[in-house]
Amino acid sequence: MSRDFDVVIVGGGVIGAVMASLLLARKLTASGKVAIVADHAGAGAGAGAGAGAGADWGLRVFAMSRASQRLLELTGIWQKLPVQRVYPYERMCVWDAGGHPQGSGSLTFDCAEIGEPNLGFIVDGRALQECCLQAARAAGAVVIEAKVQEIALHDAEARIRLNDGRDLSSRLLIAADGTESKTRGLLGIDSAGHAYHQDALVAHVRTGKPHRNTAWQRFLATGPLAFLPLSDGRSSIVWSAARAEATRLSKLDAVEFAAALKAASGDVLGDIELTTAVASFPLKLQYAVDYARPRAVLLGDAAHAVHPLAGQGLNLGLLDCASLAEVLGTAGDPTLLGEYRLLRRYERWRKSENLLAATAFDALERLFSNPNSGLARARAAGLEAVGKLPLLKRQFARRALGLRGDVPAFLKGDPA
Ligand SMILES: Cc1cc2nc3c(=O)[nH]c(=O)nc-3n(C[C@H](O)[C@H](O)[C@H](O)COP(=O)(O)OP(=O)(O)OC[C@H]3O[C@@H](n4cnc5c(N)ncnc54)[C@H](O)[C@@H]3O)c2cc1C
Repeated sequence: MSRDFDVVIVGGGVIGAVMASLLLARKLTASGKVAIVADHAGAGAGAGAGAGAGADWGLRVFAMSRASQRLLELTGIWQKLPVQRVYPYERMCVWDAGGHPQGSGSLTFDCAEIGEPNLGFIVDGRALQECCLQAARAAGAVVIEAKVQEIALHDAEARIRLNDGRDLSSRLLIAADGTESKTRGLLGIDSAGHAYHQDALVAHVRTGKPHRNTAWQRFLATGPLAFLPLSDGRSSIVWSAARAEATRLSKLDAVEFAAALKAASGDVLGDIELTTAVASFPLKLQYAVDYARPRAVLLGDAAHAVHPLAGQGLNLGLLDCASLAEVLGTAGDPTLLGEYRLLRRYERWRKSENLLAATAFDALERLFSNPNSGLARARAAGLEAVGKLPLLKRQFARRALGLRGDVPAFLKGDPA
């Protein structure tokens, strides 16, 4: 016998869990009528409780935009995040390898210049993941620990068979199961893009000089290197490098790695001490050819994966959630939630926004990794020129904060 829901979401990551909370918060479905199929242990009742508030920052951290903050506030998740795992940063400095931080060939954004209290937040990924699932459960989502096995789309419902033999049915099926989305494959949706042949190395470091509430990013020909400020004075690094170089770096001992990192950073934060293990993530640009089928849609990394140089992948996924909720809000009745005309509206909206962002990040990656000296001079001049145009700078910053562009009305602040 199959269990019936209004919405079944495959994937209990941040995006899947936030989508469930949002559907319930906006009363698009009722408690007990949305299910999250999650394949990881954190999905079990009460599992991992309190881990997010633990002694140290988790290894994954996310730069989160104002729009993401607002969305998480609306679902009550933001308020539950441990305060010591959410750090507002006030400045961002990016510079070309040939230039100097806050000097020639650099561009600095300061929240004061754009009339914002901060430029966003660095948030602990582990705490965020845990709070999102807890909030979804508390709001009335049913979390089912399993994997999706088969999918059949019918006129009035989607039928989902799980790997433990259970069957579910729903008016709407949402795929939020990440870049390797099995659901996307089962729906017969292709994806396109290319590998960057780069890995991002992630770790937390203590630095000789204070981070000054600033996110620092140096563009090297081998890939960008970012330092994201943490509340305890350390910084979290995201160091993208060609695969062979990343493999070499990750095999260095802590002292050698710190020395290589200091050299790559141009000494911006002084001496470096590695305080965690180094994790490695393969990078690719990937976008789904379609986001919607009758009774099914893709969200988050299942729909698009982008280079982390702008720290926007999760923020884009959260805008997917908000946009889908806004579109579904016009359905008027839970039985209409999987109507193709609504899902197509969501698809048209988010596909163009996400493609624009992915293409821009891809172009930036190519531009800054090109070693041509003429291009290097032009890049440096371009960064400096933007720095001298306050209006343009403000527009860039507000787009990064998720306050410009085609953003759902309920996330927009002032109309500037
Ligand atoms: C190095 C790096 C740094 C980044 N930094 C930032 C940043 O600063 N800011 C930002 O906005 N973004 C950042 N991103 C992007 C961000 O990590 C992703 O966009 C985000 O994690 C995607 O979330 P998601 O929930 O869509 O997918 P995922 O986090 O991949 O979650 C998918 C979930 O689905 C589950 N799942 C998979 N298959 C199945 C199945 N068959 N059945 C059931 N469940 C399944 C998985 O276990 C997982 O829980 C970064 C990415 C990288 C690589």
